[in-house]
Amino acid sequence: MTANPIRPTISLDAQGKAHGFLRLPYSRNDSAWGSVMIPLTVIGNGEGPTALLTGGNHGDEYEGPIALQQLAWEIEPEQVSGRIIIVPYMNYPAFRAGTRVSPLDGVNLNRAFPGRPDGSVSQKIAHYFSETLVPLADVVLDYHSGGKTLDFLPYAAAHYLDDKDQQRKCVEAVKAFGAPYSMMMLEIDAVGMFDTTVEEKGKVFVTTELGGGGTATARSAEIAVRGARNLLRHAGILSGEVETSKSVMLDMPGDDCFHFAERDGLMHPLADLGETVRAGQPIAQIWPADRSGSAPIQIAANRDGILAARHFPGLVQMGDCLTVIAVA
Ligand code: ZN
Repeated sequence: MTANPIRPTISLDAQGKAHGFLRLPYSRNDSAWGSVMIPLTVIGNGEGPTALLTGGNHGDEYEGPIALQQLAWEIEPEQVSGRIIIVPYMNYPAFRAGTRVSPLDGVNLNRAFPGRPDGSVSQKIAHYFSETLVPLADVVLDYHSGGKTLDFLPYAAAHYLDDKDQQRKCVEAVKAFGAPYSMMMLEIDAVGMFDTTVEEKGKVFVTTELGGGGTATARSAEIAVRGARNLLRHAGILSGEVETSKSVMLDMPGDDCFHFAERDGLMHPLADLGETVRAGQPIAQIWPADRSGSAPIQIAANRDGILAARHFPGLVQMGDCLTVIAVA
């Protein structure tokens, strides 16, 4: 078996707080023996569980990177029992490019798990997390938002798992995170996701969708920071009490939650995020992008529920996810 070439520049086991990098050798035209340097902070203090906190799995989602920079800066070892491993920009090349997938290999990191030690840059990053960092962790938080093409109600999420005891622990962690919404999340395609790899290893896993549009807001950033602190307190790693707040439980009970565009055009929203909609109600229509005077195509809600996600850009392409309706 090929060894993964990624090396941390700081110890993952040391006591105290250290900032360094995961160094991934990357030989290329402008740097023959160059590296991709993925920022890393480790805060360790005595006995206790380990949390792995990751942002920037997709490079155009910003609440996670913001929250993890804040935590890496402010948390001191004496506040910690155990260990916190923080990687704010997991897919660093994508983060620097402001893109969902890596500009180096065109790979979507969150479809590349469990990865390959002898693969492309993104595949090596996935493999290092799967085989080195996740096994160290008891609880894993991986931040997501909608990126440039989607926008979400702010929620933390767990998945339905075969192991109901593990599922219960994940749901308790999601509730502790304390986002305005808490989701039992159905994935369009869970193959290759970090989520799936972490859950298969039996860990407590929390993911999020905290906003979107390729930026963060004051509100979404604050939800992200408070949520991570809450999760660390819930896990017994960070001192202090969980700041409880009201969270609306949502569920995505089936594939009919998703609505996809069946033609290109100009999106005309007819319902906004957070609105309650009824089955059959028009929630968006698509006008032709190339002429006036033609009727729009209407998209009707597949089911009753709350609009939890929407396509962000004004133009839609055939096959785009237009909206997600969740059930309270
Ligand atoms: Zn994402």
